[in-house]
Amino acid sequence: MNDNPAATVAPRHSHYIAGAWTDPTGRSFPDRNPLNGDLVAEIAAGGRPEAEAAVAAAHAAFPDWAAMRPADRQRLFLRAAEITEKRHDEAVHLMAVEAGTSRAFASFQVQLSASLMRQAASWGYLPYGDVLRSDIPGRMAMVTRKPLGVVAGFTPWNGAFYLGWRTILLPMAFGNTVVIKPSEEAPLSAGLLHAEILDEAGFPPGTCNVVTHAPGEVAEIADVFFESRAVRCINFTGSDKTARILAERAGRALKRMVLELGGFNPMIVLEDADLDNAAAAVNFGAFFHQGQICMNTRKVYVARSVHDDFVGRLAARTRTLKSGDPRDPAVVVGPLINARALAQTTERVQDAVDRGARVVAGGRAEGMIYHPTILTDVPKDAICTTGRDETFGPMLVIEPFDDPEQALRDAQDTPYGLSAAIMTGDPARGLDMAQRFDTGIVHVNGATMAGEASLPNGGVKDSGWGRSGHYAVEDFTEIRLTTITQGPGRYPF
Ligand code: NAD
Repeated sequence: MNDNPAATVAPRHSHYIAGAWTDPTGRSFPDRNPLNGDLVAEIAAGGRPEAEAAVAAAHAAFPDWAAMRPADRQRLFLRAAEITEKRHDEAVHLMAVEAGTSRAFASFQVQLSASLMRQAASWGYLPYGDVLRSDIPGRMAMVTRKPLGVVAGFTPWNGAFYLGWRTILLPMAFGNTVVIKPSEEAPLSAGLLHAEILDEAGFPPGTCNVVTHAPGEVAEIADVFFESRAVRCINFTGSDKTARILAERAGRALKRMVLELGGFNPMIVLEDADLDNAAAAVNFGAFFHQGQICMNTRKVYVARSVHDDFVGRLAARTRTLKSGDPRDPAVVVGPLINARALAQTTERVQDAVDRGARVVAGGRAEGMIYHPTILTDVPKDAICTTGRDETFGPMLVIEPFDDPEQALRDAQDTPYGLSAAIMTGDPARGLDMAQRFDTGIVHVNGATMAGEASLPNGGVKDSGWGRSGHYAVEDFTEIRLTTITQGPGRYPF
């Protein structure tokens, strides 16, 4: 437990390369609290030379890390889990001041991160491959999994701590080494704190490297990631807009890419649902982290017969959510990450209202905080309801339906396919509908927003591809065919 979490930022203004804190240029940028603009830390502003050094360090560390005994890797991951839990308060504090994260979400991320480390600690013992029959007499064929090499990661600011760990741990658990570039919005809680923890746990130098950059200066680092032959995979969590730019580059460079992107996550509330349970799931699913999570509920389709009752129960809950400085443990709704995010939510609520929508709760900003907003009677052409673009803020659209099958079709009329949910008193009916959702995740009687380190989160369509949990073995290893033949070979000439 750290008594004064803010006091430990000193070494973190540097990059972490080859197991050392380094800042060759001394150039830095201010990392500020989104709530009030207070300075959190000065962070090193890196570019091409630092990225090249980091990739070289990861490349050099790869052979030994890939060959390390599972038991030795396991010990390191388990030690990192202990240190992460020990530094809980510090991580929670940094997420509050860098990314406006409430204590509930930040604390959850710390626990989830430690859980992921404990899961990852066992993945070195997953089945290593298959033995296959061959039609060639005397031949045995083996298919074994091997790590890719250096995996370069881009991390987002929103689930800063956990998503930073996910970007680091999934590749490393399968024998890859890593370079990450944390989001410039939260460089401490999305990457540099991770480097400190890995350092303290005794991970070999170069196995994980962290390079930071000033806002607007990502290009040089990204160039190195795409140009370097040593980088075998780009591991990206962020928006589909950025992903489109990077995926084009990955295509030209013929690099493997893992994409964990945004969503427009619908919930269907059937007429037989427990309405209090549904209201609780939506209140949490829509407004956790003030609507800045990829799996937040964006739109709820409610059976017309229970629509007004449901909206009343939900609004009563939503109006009680406390907003303010997330360092206060009672605060659920903190600031939006930046002025751009605040403007987007404000404009989209206004657009809906201008077209005739009714504001049931919220609908206004207070400084950098936007109050959780519920909209009904939203015309089909309002941007927030079309599902064509993710609104990354605390706004929710509710729409009545008469035909559940039509609601199921409407809920999927979006390019995204991350998470969905169905609330019903009849789980078998819920399961039937769930199987017809074209999303990576669907919950029957649960919020769209959920996370367990062992489960394979990930999306389809414009929500990307790639899966977490041990299913990430598909993303971060490749298979090698090896054959052994006894006796003389038979050839056509
Ligand atoms: P973002 O796309 O703006 O940034 C993500 C990362 O890409 C950051 O590190 C950023 O510095 C970098 N980046 C941005 N523009 C770049 C460019 N032109 N070239 C190279 N790098 C660039 O996303 P964000 O605002 O940090 O995160 C929020 C988004 O991430 C939302 O869309 C959210 O839904 C999505 N997200 C998805 C998941 C998931 O698991 N599916 C999890 C969290 C967040």
